[in-house]
Amino acid sequence: MALTETHQPVNIAIIGGGFCGVLTAIHLLNHQCLPPVHIHLINKGYPIAKGIAYAPHTASLLLNVPNGRMSAFADIPDHYVQWLQTNSSFDHQDELAIAFSTRRQYGNYLAQLWNEAASKKEENKTVTLYNNYAGDIIEDNNKLIIQLCDHQTLRADVAILATGNALPRFPDGMPVSLKSSEYYFEDPWKKGCIENLKTEKDILIIGNGLTMTDTVMGLAENGFKQTIHTISPNGYRLKPWAEAKKPYTDVDAAAISSRETTLLELVKTFNKHRKIATQLNQSIYPIIDSLRPHTPNIWQAFNSREKQQFISYLNTHWGSVRHRIPPEMQHLIEQLRAEKRLITHSGRIISSNDLQDGLNVTLNCNGQLKQFSVQRIINCTGPENHISKTGNKLLNNLYNKGLISAGPCNMGIHAHPENGQVINADQSLRSNLFVIGNNLKGTLWESTAVPELRVQAKKLAQHIISGVYAASGY
Ligand SMILES: Cc1cc2nc3c(=O)[nH]c(=O)nc-3n(C[C@H](O)[C@H](O)[C@H](O)COP(=O)(O)OP(=O)(O)OC[C@H]3O[C@@H](n4cnc5c(N)ncnc54)[C@H](O)[C@@H]3O)c2cc1C
Repeated sequence: MALTETHQPVNIAIIGGGFCGVLTAIHLLNHQCLPPVHIHLINKGYPIAKGIAYAPHTASLLLNVPNGRMSAFADIPDHYVQWLQTNSSFDHQDELAIAFSTRRQYGNYLAQLWNEAASKKEENKTVTLYNNYAGDIIEDNNKLIIQLCDHQTLRADVAILATGNALPRFPDGMPVSLKSSEYYFEDPWKKGCIENLKTEKDILIIGNGLTMTDTVMGLAENGFKQTIHTISPNGYRLKPWAEAKKPYTDVDAAAISSRETTLLELVKTFNKHRKIATQLNQSIYPIIDSLRPHTPNIWQAFNSREKQQFISYLNTHWGSVRHRIPPEMQHLIEQLRAEKRLITHSGRIISSNDLQDGLNVTLNCNGQLKQFSVQRIINCTGPENHISKTGNKLLNNLYNKGLISAGPCNMGIHAHPENGQVINADQSLRSNLFVIGNNLKGTLWESTAVPELRVQAKKLAQHIISGVYAASGY
């Protein structure tokens, strides 16, 4: 960041106003004695502060992380629980920290934090909101010109890419004609995919993880009574947060991550503990939970081959134990399975043909072909990670001109692990372009949920603040 005139406001453009963009802005606004800054917050697609996750299509959807871990501020761990104490009507106040509130409730918490920070009237901190998509960034000497999709432009000294979750990728091996079928729903987070349901035909969901669970809940809440089929290569089932078994705690995750651990050593250590836990009839989940804060260190210590091996062979297993759902949602899912209204196939779709009122699909499930007709196919495979395939015009443009490049294993944007400083296609580190959130997945691996994103937001804001001081001549 370099300024020619002193004491001019530093213009900070934040592109994306979900959790990451807004939390970074809150930290900037809450910083005492900042030299003059003007924050340009550019957001379209989902409501400001709430983003995709916390403005869900279905009222009953719960957080997939307990309230006690959802504070927006890592240094005030019970901030969200305190907020709930005055803003919710939970029956068991003493169990608030281990309970799961609705995502809408959490969205209201974030919106309130944002409104409070943005409405503070301070002369040296101003905010402009743009309800529009940013489509490109042009370099102009030391400045960045942000082009919005309505042809408006703005000049910034620094820009933050906080564009969040991309749509799922089009399923491999599917006929291209499916893309334009009126019965194919590519966006599982939009209300349209669970509305206008026909009563007499089944539905097929591609994917078997958290997005599938949300969609099934949404369909059930909308009164859908037919069978929901889900398909994924392995057919793994998500586990609930609460386990009846005693927790296994005899693992020192900090020690594992403090030395350079190879993938092979890590798998051996994990398997050793898994076997002991099984013999003791104890839950292995504390092992996963204790490893999570250390996964960025462990990931960065892997070489490229190990990272690729992890993605190819272990990622699905990790995902199936790492992602868990609230017991209430698990209960509904299991009930639907028991009633045969939810059937999980392990295999892949090999063909689909449009009918007059839906689609005929053929699945290959380990050599066994299954054919049936459905009224719609909903893609719940999770956000696309490859930036050139996300369909986000801004990221496509920046990628095509080399301003950003793909992160390790083609996941997200290549960036510095400490502060998200973008690394260009020519490997140079940019001082005025940053990335935060799940586009740091290739760099950090664990860059998905609030417990790690809140830390990123604070670090990024602090880094930018020190740049602002240096640039402003204070
Ligand atoms: C359905 C779902 C449920 C989840 N539940 C939880 C949970 O319970 N607990 C948890 O910790 N984590 C959860 N997560 C993870 C969640 O992604 C993070 O917690 C967090 O919300 C991510 O915020 P973000 O700002 O990075 O992205 P997003 O929330 O995706 O926000 C990005 C925003 O930027 C906008 N945008 C994108 N490109 C542009 C552009 N070019 N110009 C302008 N605007 C743009 C988008 O439309 C969107 O409004 C969930 C994720 C999903 C998808």
